[in-house]
Amino acid sequence: MKLILLGPPGAGKGTQSARLTQKYAIPQLSTGDMLRAAVAAKTPIGLKAKSIMDAGALVSDDIVVGIVADRIQQPDAARGFILDGFPRTVQQAQALDVMLADKGMDLDAVIELKVDEDALHDRMAHRVKEMQAAGQPVRADDNPEAFRTRLTAYRTQTAPVSAYYAKSGRLKTVDGMAPIDEVSKAIDGLLGPLG
Ligand code: AMP
Repeated sequence: MKLILLGPPGAGKGTQSARLTQKYAIPQLSTGDMLRAAVAAKTPIGLKAKSIMDAGALVSDDIVVGIVADRIQQPDAARGFILDGFPRTVQQAQALDVMLADKGMDLDAVIELKVDEDALHDRMAHRVKEMQAAGQPVRADDNPEAFRTRLTAYRTQTAPVSAYYAKSGRLKTVDGMAPIDEVSKAIDGLLGPLG
């Protein structure tokens, strides 16, 4: 199962990906997580990406495509994967198509979580409170200013990715405003026939 979850920050991609990894026993490949690991390890990529990520802007396509190309070669991704937070530009989507075609692979589904943008600021603030209550570090880009930039990046650079997949008939949408379990059920309904 090779899957993409699309949606703005706070749409629930991470939550739903985590559930799907259990169900299909495939890894969740989150470019945000991979980049945060690179930042924490102070690798050359991490050093380049840190200030861009902190501001809520997008890291360059070259860097992100390189990370994903390496990651999908790993043995645990051989049976499939869930891409969370990638692709975020049409160039990344095109690069992914080429990458998969080279390996004789194709995507099984692209699922977009549709959400009402007004709700996203509240969800971010809620996530910050939850992290603080759990004594966990809060993301540097989970603040109102960086969040606004992330939403703008989504609107201008990532929304066209949905149109890219819709054009080739690969896009499916789910109501991301529904309760978490209902969103999971709707995704299961879409993926069920693909097993
Ligand atoms: P996320 O955890 O998916 O919200 O990503 C956190 C941040 O990492 C984003 O705001 C970007 O700065 C960067 N990032 C993650 N994925 C990508 C991507 N596919 N393209 C460009 N930048 C990305």
